[in-house]
Amino acid sequence: MAQVLLNENSQDRITNSEKIEFIKDLARKISSNKASAEYINSLDSLSPNDRLTVYYFTEDKELAEKLVKVIPEIEQRLNKMFDVKEPFPIELILYNDLDQFRKSNDIAESQRLLGLYINKSIHMANTKVSEEIYQTSSLDLDLQDLNYEEEIIHTLEHEYTHYYIRGFLAENNLKEDIPRWFDEGLAVYYGSEGYLTDVEFEFPDLKNSAIPLQDLMGYIEWEKNTESETASDIAYNESFMMVYELIKTKGEKVITDILLKGIPKAQDLSTNEKTQFTESFLEQVGMTMDDFQNQVLTKYSKSK
Ligand SMILES: [Zn+2]
Repeated sequence: MAQVLLNENSQDRITNSEKIEFIKDLARKISSNKASAEYINSLDSLSPNDRLTVYYFTEDKELAEKLVKVIPEIEQRLNKMFDVKEPFPIELILYNDLDQFRKSNDIAESQRLLGLYINKSIHMANTKVSEEIYQTSSLDLDLQDLNYEEEIIHTLEHEYTHYYIRGFLAENNLKEDIPRWFDEGLAVYYGSEGYLTDVEFEFPDLKNSAIPLQDLMGYIEWEKNTESETASDIAYNESFMMVYELIKTKGEKVITDILLKGIPKAQDLSTNEKTQFTESFLEQVGMTMDDFQNQVLTKYSKSK
């Protein structure tokens, strides 16, 4: 929000009511940041090395230790693709209160988010909060056999992927924003063990409901096009399908090749990010993003 408003080109197009909205928004953010810092200060913490600090509620000690234990495996898998030499320090915050989790992270009640990566920190729901989030879902989910602790590990794998992608971008001196569908597709890929070779995924038939990838590129675009829980579910699923098929048909290296050519250098202010990514995709995959999406959707469609 702040970035859009501070952009000089758009400044004179902002109405007064928008300015008031912005100020209110800013005031809300400042107070939520303060509440968030106070909350984090009230938690226990553990730091297994000088790169990672985990903040947790006393009763979640076992869970925090379990997460610390699985992190080396997660890093090993991610490094096969991203080969990050010196990942920057990261904080992991485990929330034991749903309201606090939503308030600190600006999450609307309609969003079924179990975790998020923001600016060098991972915010995640603990077991109790995860359960509460699942129970408010409007989707037809089978919660009977759900193992919440397993879900939390998958959430960690998902958020950790966002972190490692940022590490890869930083080490290659690239901007830290990448197309959102690509970012989420990779995060779901690692969070649902898409890298396992002996698992066949049963993807949903999204031939008639998928959102064009061109509409899921920017951060704000993604938010706007995935407001309902159903749309959000579709967006994550199709992003995963795309990344999964890219890797299966072209090999893991295609991901970093697309990024290395498709993301502008950190100091580059003139390049159109969308165009550069789209061109790199075409070059590495031999097909436009649109054509590749259609091919994948048709492959998993029940009515071919
Ligand atoms: Zn994500």
